[in-house]
Amino acid sequence: MKGAIFIILNQMVEEQAGVEVWEQVLKTVKPKSGAIYTSVEDYSDEELFELVGAISQCLGTPTEVLIEAFGEFLFDGLNKKYPMFTEAQGTFLEFVESVDGVIHKEVRKLYLRPNLPSLETVRLSDNVLELIYKSPRKLCLLAEGLIRGAAKHYGVSYELEHTECMHRGRDQCVMKITVS
Ligand code: ZN
Repeated sequence: MKGAIFIILNQMVEEQAGVEVWEQVLKTVKPKSGAIYTSVEDYSDEELFELVGAISQCLGTPTEVLIEAFGEFLFDGLNKKYPMFTEAQGTFLEFVESVDGVIHKEVRKLYLRPNLPSLETVRLSDNVLELIYKSPRKLCLLAEGLIRGAAKHYGVSYELEHTECMHRGRDQCVMKITVS
């Protein structure tokens, strides 16, 4: 996982829980990297999951809730850094459709093995989109949080139905997004 993700996680914990919580988490995890993250460098997924586990314990927040909240915070962090991607898309669903073909395509150009999830979208109607997510990391809740962040950015209300899930024995997750 790219250092940028770790940096934004660190920001979220410091902003929402305080620097002492982050320090406590580092004391518990003792990350191999020493927690000095460079945004383009790769760090182990294991380290990220250990950090998330320790934050969850420290705050008494379930991991699932934390991962989704992080997705939302991550959207804002990435959107501040790379605003051109939302600027280029007129609507929330068009933005979701552009993630694989536009954003991830750019990431693939920049990095050799970015380890991105596989994403496919199927537009069922003007206001309904199905997002098909596949990744060995099974971070569909992170995707849900990113989607929530994007919807807020576009000022849109929506419902999300996780109709299939890798955590429920499927080989992919299907998220049906209906904009109201
Ligand atoms: Zn899922």
